[in-house]
Amino acid sequence: MTEKHGIQGAVDSQKLLIYDLSLEQLKAQFAEWGQPAYRAAQVWQGLYHQFWGDPSQFSSLPADVRARMADAFRFSALTPIKKLASSDGETVKTLFQLPDGKSIEAVLMRYEHRRTLCISSQAGCAMGCVFCATGQMGFKRNLSQGEIVEQVIYYARQLKETDEHVSNVVVMGMGEPFHNYDNTLAAIDLLNDPQGMKLGERRFTISTVGLVPMIRKFAKEKRQVNLAISLHSADDELRTSMMPVNKKYPIEDLIAAAREYTELTGRRVTFEWALIQDVNDSIEHAAALANLLRGMLCHVNVIPLNPTRKYAGKATTRQRAQAFQAEMERRGIPCSIRIRRGIDIQAGCGQLASEEKA
Ligand code: SAH
Ligand code: SF4
Repeated sequence: MTEKHGIQGAVDSQKLLIYDLSLEQLKAQFAEWGQPAYRAAQVWQGLYHQFWGDPSQFSSLPADVRARMADAFRFSALTPIKKLASSDGETVKTLFQLPDGKSIEAVLMRYEHRRTLCISSQAGCAMGCVFCATGQMGFKRNLSQGEIVEQVIYYARQLKETDEHVSNVVVMGMGEPFHNYDNTLAAIDLLNDPQGMKLGERRFTISTVGLVPMIRKFAKEKRQVNLAISLHSADDELRTSMMPVNKKYPIEDLIAAAREYTELTGRRVTFEWALIQDVNDSIEHAAALANLLRGMLCHVNVIPLNPTRKYAGKATTRQRAQAFQAEMERRGIPCSIRIRRGIDIQAGCGQLASEEKA
């Protein structure tokens, strides 16, 4: 029995994940099976409107077509292995296992009318930011388009039960989305598909560590997807000590690329700044940041550091965060303090997966 399951598992993991397909590819497969295109469109509706996750749910299809689908495709690559809810129940975090045993996480945050998902683009991350739990675990692999899409479908299906909908998606979970550029953008395109889930581009935010060539490439695409850049320091020496990527793409180049982005797209760029006690949280740090960003169409999000096991830095106090914000505003740069929702469930980037490996 065990052996049989083992073999079946191996066969399953070689099947193409259905969320890795475009509608055109699905139609081509149906054509090969001698099935009309409208049947493929029905499947698409089932996947992206009903969020069906099992071939047996596609009851309008003939049984032999359902069997063929079950044979040809896997309908899920994500197995939830751990779920945590914050004490107020508004933040839910799920740790998923991938078919090759790697794990990723995705978070649902309910806030007023918003239902925001924070999803992963990679298992682990190669960028090595010292304060980040994902960076501390190193790079495992890129996620496929379908593995990125399925994180959204998973929560969309749950929300549907209570007549709720995904309102926003931030690619701020594990991994560096611009290090997996094509799959991340393909996943957004799929979720944006007018015949599918129809999640508008403006509902997405990609957060990047600052891969300058990719910011330039993204700017040229003139998409409506929001862009956030993790800055955390306005000083090269300090930034390099926190984020090794700064050696390759120092602050001057990064800010030039960000300015180019705003000029090409007319869109505001967001800068992320994790406030770390006595490291980057003083009034002088705020002044240097404001100076760097002067005249740019931008917004700054500050968030008190989420402490991680392998980094000694501490979170800024609320008073210092407020003083930092006030200094930014005084100098004409819009700045908001992001609340650490779900701190009690380690909702920080990669924290659950890295605990799992501990
Ligand atoms: N790789 C991308 C997106 C994932 S990280 C990036 O770096 O932007 C999402 C955000 O969480 C980034 O702004 C990152 O700097 C921040 N972050 C990582 N670890 C954190 C921590 N321990 N506390 C607060 N913010 C953190
Ligand atoms: Fe990677 Fe972003 Fe974490 Fe840096 S902060 S290690 S880029 S996930």
